[in-house]
Amino acid sequence: MDGPAREKAVFLDRDGVLNHEIGHYVWRLDEFVVAQGVPESLARLKAAGYRLIVVTNQAGIAKGLYTAQEVHACHQKLQQACHHAIDAFYFASGHPSVSESLMRKPDSLMLEKAIARFRLDPSQCWIVGDRLRDLQAGAKVGVRGILVGEGDEPRPELYAADLSAATDLILASRTM
Ligand SMILES: [Mg+2]
Repeated sequence: MDGPAREKAVFLDRDGVLNHEIGHYVWRLDEFVVAQGVPESLARLKAAGYRLIVVTNQAGIAKGLYTAQEVHACHQKLQQACHHAIDAFYFASGHPSVSESLMRKPDSLMLEKAIARFRLDPSQCWIVGDRLRDLQAGAKVGVRGILVGEGDEPRPELYAADLSAATDLILASRTM
């Protein structure tokens, strides 16, 4: 990379972090429900200087369940609820049963693309997800992770109930 990377970001898994996890693929607009406290959390992170970048696995596309257009429509709904705070959306449309992709978490190509595009310093970045594979994707590029939610995943050291609590952790860490 030419020149120093200065920007910082919070990478955000989508389903189970920003919108309700409903136990199956979310692509219908009426099932895409923004979780409580998300607009406020994103505003706090934005005010602290973080880029906000959504990185989401959407293998339902590879499986033929829905289209990229429907994913974009959900993201538009999310942006409207969050006052267009999100800087970029990356989604991995592949699934191992159909097509291999390094975009798909736990691989890190979505994060790598954003790091290059926004000239991010990974050591100043975070990823918030409700699955360990989200955090694994971050670890591959030196980005710290916080697990959220009430899922069955074994809880790592950095755990928060939801994005609001994860935001508290991220903002508190700045002073450490
Ligand atoms: Mg998720």
